[in-house]
Amino acid sequence: MNTEAIKALNEQYLLNTYGARKLALVRGEGAKVWDAEGREYLDFFAGISVANLGHCHPAVTDAISEQARTLCHVSNLYYTGPQVELARLLSENTAADRWFFANCGATANEAAIKLARRYWAEEGTPKPGIISARNSFHGRTMATLTATGQERFQQGFEPLLPGFTYVPFDDLDRLRDAIKNDTGAILLEPIQGEGGVRTPSPGYFAGVRELCDERGLLLILDEVQTGMGRTGRFCGYEHEGIQPDIITLAKALGNGVPIGAMGCAERVTHGFAPGSHASTFGGNPVCAAAAVATVRELLRPGFLDKAAGTGERFVRGLRDVASRHGCVVEVRGRGLMIGVELDTPVAPVVDKLREKGVLCGPAGAYVLRFLPPLIVTEGEVDQVTAAVDEALGAQ
Ligand SMILES: *Cc1c(COP(=O)(O)O)cnc(C)c1O
Repeated sequence: MNTEAIKALNEQYLLNTYGARKLALVRGEGAKVWDAEGREYLDFFAGISVANLGHCHPAVTDAISEQARTLCHVSNLYYTGPQVELARLLSENTAADRWFFANCGATANEAAIKLARRYWAEEGTPKPGIISARNSFHGRTMATLTATGQERFQQGFEPLLPGFTYVPFDDLDRLRDAIKNDTGAILLEPIQGEGGVRTPSPGYFAGVRELCDERGLLLILDEVQTGMGRTGRFCGYEHEGIQPDIITLAKALGNGVPIGAMGCAERVTHGFAPGSHASTFGGNPVCAAAAVATVRELLRPGFLDKAAGTGERFVRGLRDVASRHGCVVEVRGRGLMIGVELDTPVAPVVDKLREKGVLCGPAGAYVLRFLPPLIVTEGEVDQVTAAVDEALGAQ
């Protein structure tokens, strides 16, 4: 099928949640993808930070193929090897001690919200209140949509869930003021992704952790976008010198197959008991096997340091480009999670870059967002930097 044929069927048979798209992609390898007409693109969005190891990474493809030939699915009525192996790997490499597996970012965050509420219920001091940040993004289920501090995603879906309040990101005083007697948890992204690649000030998260300890609150970090090496470390919180009580992972966890995870510190685990929460597919053998292979590759010695270095080169290059274009307000980010804020809408720039064979995306209307696979080379980064220079010049 060519692009036109795919587009025509899409328009006839799919709900129009994604609007019209320009490309139909048929193949990927490393940092490259190809459209239905065989045109090649450098993918600097990686499926919204999913293909962190690059498209069709051989270790992940092999793990998926082998597991698919052996056993695809049995449900959580039974133990499976890949799931426990994944949990052990994640526990050994993050602040969390125990895991619940979900299917995506939203369902991982649902699990985190439910665990926080049930933890306080079990403690005998119900504290259902959850504080999240304005401009945040936590998913599209009703609870995670409510946690998402952006009205544009919530409009028309009211009534939202009770118990959520919002504070400005990166403002410790406002956060302190928002804590009430029934507040049980604070839910934040280490860097706001969809909200515009907003990085926190130094010390903000240390302050949040201190506040949580002082007031006896759970700190939930949504690492769905910042996790899995995106910022140059395995998890985003590692840059902040703190440990969360609950973290969620998804997006790149399976490098392309759908899987989410919610991990928590030992002291919170009794919030969930048999029957409290469940998922038919969560931690499914194929997805878990893909995730095991993904985590092992990401944690190979030197891999994340190299990605961090590539990210620094990219930011330096983009700042140099910015110095030549008055429309750039700021270049920011960490590792290979990079935002370029413009004083004009970015959609035309995204279009121009695509025409030049570079895929990236927006984060809100004014921020150009780059989330390349972590395996991108310095040459590819330089190529994209030059393309951004041209695209901004043609504005
Ligand atoms: C993408 C994202 C989600 C939602 O993940 P889905 O897999 O789309 O449900 C949640 N939180 C953050 C920070 C995200 O970037």
